[in-house]
Amino acid sequence: MEGKRGGLTSHRPARRRYARPGAPIPLWENEGHPGPIGPSFPESTQMPQFSSGDDFLSAAAARSLILDSLSPAGGWERVAIRAALGRVLAHDVRAPCDVPAHDNSAMDGYAVRAADLSSDAEATLAVTGTALAGHPFPGAVGTGEAVRIMTGAPIPQGADTVVMQEAARREQEDVFIPPGQKKGQNVRRAGEDLAAGSIALAAGRRCGPAELGLIASLGIAEVTMRRRLRVAFFSTGDELASIGQPLAAGKIYDSNRYTLFGALSRLGCELLDMGVVPDDPAALEAAFVDASRAADVIITSGGVSVGDADFIRDMMARLGEVSFWKLAIKPGRPMAFGRIGGAVLFGLPGNPVAVMVSFYQFVQDALLTLMGVAPLPPAGRFAVRAGFAMRKPAGRVEYLRGRLQHDGAGPCVTLAGAQGSGVLRSMSEADCFIILPEDCTGVQAGDIVSVQPFNGLA
Ligand code: AMP
Ligand code: MG
Repeated sequence: MEGKRGGLTSHRPARRRYARPGAPIPLWENEGHPGPIGPSFPESTQMPQFSSGDDFLSAAAARSLILDSLSPAGGWERVAIRAALGRVLAHDVRAPCDVPAHDNSAMDGYAVRAADLSSDAEATLAVTGTALAGHPFPGAVGTGEAVRIMTGAPIPQGADTVVMQEAARREQEDVFIPPGQKKGQNVRRAGEDLAAGSIALAAGRRCGPAELGLIASLGIAEVTMRRRLRVAFFSTGDELASIGQPLAAGKIYDSNRYTLFGALSRLGCELLDMGVVPDDPAALEAAFVDASRAADVIITSGGVSVGDADFIRDMMARLGEVSFWKLAIKPGRPMAFGRIGGAVLFGLPGNPVAVMVSFYQFVQDALLTLMGVAPLPPAGRFAVRAGFAMRKPAGRVEYLRGRLQHDGAGPCVTLAGAQGSGVLRSMSEADCFIILPEDCTGVQAGDIVSVQPFNGLA
């Protein structure tokens, strides 16, 4: 049955589940958590002010209002290296040893003494043994001698240079080295990747595959990570049906909880899926109160556009401090941001594309900040030639869904289907946002536009 998450049933329970605010709910029973939830948003924090009346807030101003008011949530735990994937280092990781641990060969060839080589004539050396990766040559390389060496094998005592085998000529126990070799060539120095005692990874780094490998290369089995961020989320709207329910007249299936589930899972958050909450003041209030007790962050979708916002604004003012913003962006104009108890609240718009745009443009970096990621990863925007044309009013930022491709003239970006804010297929078919700034009044094919790719490698 669809809908069970974190000990909560996700649909139709809203009234029953939230009828008694304050009743204990086993929200996090599926995970072990060291320590209490530290308030991520101390109640003394000065909240950003309401934007009043018809004022529109720019995307840039909204981002800095959000990011400036957040600091990392407290708490950390020791975890085994594999469990660090996607999480954030609480402490610096220092190298306990040099990496590589010893001078070693970057090539298959011969370990030699540079002093034995000549700058203008071939040198003849006697081969006295072999050094393999994992099997060092036990002796030393004396004057007039060479050791056959393989990539990764420690440089034998006495040798300082490796001549690649393609450059050398071997005859029985002698090897002939042509002139022109450089002292120290093809040798990887001990500590050249990481010197013992140096910071290999700084606190605040989110661990991906490369970081796991780096930690493993230091022989470290356990690392200290910040605890995972707890995020409660629900959809609001009387029209929403959950998967598994028949679709009655006028209803639509709730998709926002699934896009949010995907985006939040990728960030490595602990999720509390609270299902669908109807447009009912008592049910909404109970949901907000429960969520604020259980989570660091509450994310909702729907119910923040003009008519709805009036309806929940009074309630929010009672429960915490929440600003309702009209952002000068498309899609995703309405958004609520604030605090309820110790939890940060993001009230996203209802339209499915608007949810994703506001999540990626505003919420994701806020969550990374709360997770302790520092510095935040760069936005990764690139200038690309437009393969489409469109008009646009000045005064707002537009986030179009695009596809990066190559045409005869090189890389370009085209639109990924219909651009309505309810057309989720445009997100699915896109691989980037095309970001048109406030002062842009239109795009001609061939103009250079700014794109933000959805996926990075690491
Ligand atoms: P609202 O912001 O609540 O006025 O919703 C704006 C539009 O988004 C309406 O067409 C809603 O039906 C739609 N919508 C709201 N929430 C969801 C959801 N969870 N899944 C799909 N569509 C939604
Ligand atoms: Mg609604």
